[in-house]
Amino acid sequence: MRVIVVGAGFAGLSAAWVLADSGVDVTVLEARDRVGGRVWSWELVPGDPGTVIERGAEFVLDGYEHLNNWVTRLGLELANTTMSYYVREPRGGLPVTAGEVATAAAILADAAATEPSSVSVASIAQQVLATQPGSGGGVSRAAVEAILTRISISWAAEVTELSCRALQGTASAFEPNPTYRVAGGNQGIAHGIAAHLGNRVRLGCPVRRLTHDEGSAIVWTDDGAERADAVIVTVPLACSSSMPVEPALPAWKVEAWSRTGLGQAAKLHVMLTQPATASAVLSVPDGYWTWVATDASGVTQPIAHCFAGSMPALDRLGVMSGPGDWLARLADLRPELSLDVDRVLLSTWAEDPWAGMAYSAERSVSRPEDPDLMAAPVGRLHFAGEHTAGPWSGLMEGALRS
Ligand code: FAD
Repeated sequence: MRVIVVGAGFAGLSAAWVLADSGVDVTVLEARDRVGGRVWSWELVPGDPGTVIERGAEFVLDGYEHLNNWVTRLGLELANTTMSYYVREPRGGLPVTAGEVATAAAILADAAATEPSSVSVASIAQQVLATQPGSGGGVSRAAVEAILTRISISWAAEVTELSCRALQGTASAFEPNPTYRVAGGNQGIAHGIAAHLGNRVRLGCPVRRLTHDEGSAIVWTDDGAERADAVIVTVPLACSSSMPVEPALPAWKVEAWSRTGLGQAAKLHVMLTQPATASAVLSVPDGYWTWVATDASGVTQPIAHCFAGSMPALDRLGVMSGPGDWLARLADLRPELSLDVDRVLLSTWAEDPWAGMAYSAERSVSRPEDPDLMAAPVGRLHFAGEHTAGPWSGLMEGALRS
């Protein structure tokens, strides 16, 4: 049996490993000149492994069983960041503590649990503010604003369009749990799998078109056509909807794609001239968060990491015009950090031709069956990737599970 996998991100590579080890003749075709897709580790100071940052996926969160298994299988290790992804000191908005935010977030999550997924995060917030306002055990507007900013960042989408399920996911927890990264960079997982697959992975090979019939599927690249018994498409959602397929995919799949949100995010990394302690701060008005973290050596990296989520936040920070505006706002938000404004890296994904997005988001117009519809095969074409992973969508863990 011959299988072609389109895309060498975590979904495509892990699928190819399993197939290859089952004796299947598998080839992975990847458009970029590197593996890992939206997992992209980078030395901020070239040649200095102590400055490895993540331009895409960063945090290994609670319940990442599959990712942990791959880490073990590949002989890698996790590094404790010694800050918590889940707890961020709110700054810049109405006065509120991280503890008050966590208490209020639990109330919003409880309210969301009794509502259908068609209710938005913003509606839940309005409902809770109307029924449990004020101090004295209620929920303050300051806490709600901080929660809405945090949720919008984590899901890279606006709270008016996000399903209230976003208040309950792993990425939306507020407990002070430890948070990890893969020591040396998350892309180590992709490199490890690709090394195992050897010349079965072909880089710089964009798939332009797919055709399929009852007996086989054909993948069209710049070098011509390749026939296979099955094709697994793992490209990001923003790319799959623009890839020509003949005969066309059924309406139920295309409609499930169009109901799913295309989350947008950007990251900014800035070297520090003075050491700083591990910490995490949320900018409530500007829609981003920023942290200082420890790496595998146990030393806190002299780097300010920042992540902005949702298109309005990216516009506010002017990311499409470069790092200048964001850098100035970071300096205002965190005067305690000594930023080296000459050693800065901005990473965006919206205009990346092989991503077009950061990760998928469940919207209030999404339907519970959408992940299954997006994952369901059509004849000889199969589909995987983070957007097909249901409760794990949007995450590295989801890509591996898919
Ligand atoms: P991808 O990694 O996108 O892989 C798909 C591959 O297909 C890519 O390599 C792409 O180049 C290739 N491709 C596209 N089109 C074609 C074509 N026509 N022909 C051939 N190849 C093609 N997750 C977490 O768990 N924790 C985090 O902290 C986190 N933070 C994130 C921050 C950012 C800024 C971003 C962008 C993502 C983040 N994620 C995070 C999400 C995580 O990166 C993704 O869920 C996961 O990596 C997706 O893997 P995938 O294999 O589904 O897709």
